[in-house]
Amino acid sequence: MDIHAIAQQRFNIPYLRPFQQLVIKRIIEDDRPQSHHRPTVVILPTGGGKSLCYMLPATVVEGLIIIVYPLLSLMNDQRRRFERAGIECVQLQGNQSSQRRRNSFAQIDDGVKVVITNAETLEQPQILAQLGRHTISVLVLDEAHTIVSWGKGFRPSLARLGLLIAHLPVRQLLLFTATADALVLAELNRLIYPNRRSHLIRASSNRANISYHVTFTLSPKRAVTTYLKMPQSRPALVFCRTRRLCETMSEHFRLCHPAIPTFYYHAGLSKAERQRIEDAYIDDRGAVLFATNAFGMGVDKSDIRTVIHTYLPPDALSFLQESGRGGRDGRHCHSLVLLKANDVPSSPLYAIFSQDSVCFRSLLLNALDERVDTCSGCDVCDNTYYKTSEGEQAIIAAVRHKVLGHSVVSLIEQLTDDRIRYRHSGHLAGWQPIEVNEAIQTLIAAKKIRALKRGGRLYCPPSLTNRRALRTVWQRGGSDGNDQGYPKRSIAQLIQRALRLFIR
Ligand SMILES: [Zn+2]
Repeated sequence: MDIHAIAQQRFNIPYLRPFQQLVIKRIIEDDRPQSHHRPTVVILPTGGGKSLCYMLPATVVEGLIIIVYPLLSLMNDQRRRFERAGIECVQLQGNQSSQRRRNSFAQIDDGVKVVITNAETLEQPQILAQLGRHTISVLVLDEAHTIVSWGKGFRPSLARLGLLIAHLPVRQLLLFTATADALVLAELNRLIYPNRRSHLIRASSNRANISYHVTFTLSPKRAVTTYLKMPQSRPALVFCRTRRLCETMSEHFRLCHPAIPTFYYHAGLSKAERQRIEDAYIDDRGAVLFATNAFGMGVDKSDIRTVIHTYLPPDALSFLQESGRGGRDGRHCHSLVLLKANDVPSSPLYAIFSQDSVCFRSLLLNALDERVDTCSGCDVCDNTYYKTSEGEQAIIAAVRHKVLGHSVVSLIEQLTDDRIRYRHSGHLAGWQPIEVNEAIQTLIAAKKIRALKRGGRLYCPPSLTNRRALRTVWQRGGSDGNDQGYPKRSIAQLIQRALRLFIR
C-alpha cells in the first residue's frame, strides 16, 4: 500500500514527514488480529502534522479508530478536520441525550470508523461496553502529557485511562506527548501501559520554516502596530500575558489600523463568543488575533505568517509550542519576541534572547535536549540583532532637557508635538500618545527615569560618574578654599555646577 499516494490523492499532501511515515506504517501494517504490539509514543512538541497520523489510516484500516482528547475544544477541532477531509466521525462526550447516543452507536454499527471522545465519557460503563463490541484498530491518546500533569489534580479520570483501555480490544495504542521528559514517560508507562515497553518515535521540534527574531522595545503596542502594518506579516497571532492586555492591545491596534480585521481571545469570553472569533479568524487571510495562551492547543489555522510574544513564556517548550502555531502550511513564518527594559533577567528565555552570540534556534532546541546543526534563520545567524529600543534616546533627552519640569502628560505632549522647535530636545515622529505613555512607564519601571513622589515630575537619575563628580564639586566647594587650593564658591555657583552635571 502506497501511503504517499494516499496522502497526495486523499489529503493533497505532497510530502510526509519522517515521523508521519513511521507512525502510519506501524498502524497500517500491524492492523492484524493476531498481533500484540508495543504501544507507540510519539514525542512531538510543536504539534505540526499529527492528525494525519490517524486520519490517513482511518481511510484504510478495518476496525475503529478512537481518539481521546483532554479538552472539548480539541475534540471539536478534530471533528472539523475529519469533516473537511470528508471522513465521517462521531463525537461522544458528556451531556449528550440518550437519543443522540443511540444515533452515534447506530452510525458506528453502520460503518463509521472514527470516534472522538474524552476520558470522562469512556468511564461510563455503558459506553465502554458498547465500544468493546467492536474491534479497535487504534486508540489514540492525544496531548498525553496532560494525563500526568492534570490526572493527579483536577482530572482524575485521565489517570484511570489505562484501566479502561485494558478492558477494550485495542490492537494499537498510540500516544502523542509534547514532552520528552523521562519523568513524564515513566508516569505514562505506569498509568497507561503497565508492564509493557513502548516504541518511541521522536519527531524533531525544529521547524525550519520559522525564523526567530527579537525586538527591544519600550512600547509593545508601538512595536506590534508597526510590525503588522505590512500585509505580508499577516495573518498574525499576538500572545499577551493577561486578558486585560489582550483587550487593550487589540483596541489600540484597531484604532491605528481600522481596515485590518482585529480580534482578541481569552478564557474570560463566553463559549459562543470564542467559537465565533475562532471561526472568523480561521477564515480570514489578513487578520490579527491578540490572545492569551488559552488560545486552544489545536486551533487549526495553517497560514499564520507572524507569531509575536509580547511577554516571555516560562520555558523553551512553551515558547516553541506557541510559536509553532505559525507556518503550519510549510511556508515561512516569523516568530518575534518583544523584550522590554524591565523584563525579568532571571527567566531562561531572557538568557536566550538577550545575547547576541549564539544561535537562538540551537539554544531553544538544546533546552529540549535536541541538537541542531544548521539554522534556517534567526537574528544571530542573520546578523540582524540590534539592542537599542526605539525612542529611548529621545525620551531621556527630553526629560534631561527640562530638569524637574515635565509631568508625564506634558512630556507626552512635547514628544508628540510636530512643531519644529521641540525637535532638538527629543521628538517621536509618528508615535501615538498611548504608545509614548507606555514607553515612559517602561522606562520608569526599569528605573531609567524617575518620578518625584510629590507632584510626579520626571527626572533622570544621574549616572554613576556624574554622581561621583557631584560629590567632588560639593566637597570642594564646601571646604576651606585656602587649604585645598580651590576658591570657595557661593551656594548659587555650587547649585549651578551641580545641575549641569545632573542633567548631562
Ligand atoms: Zn540561528
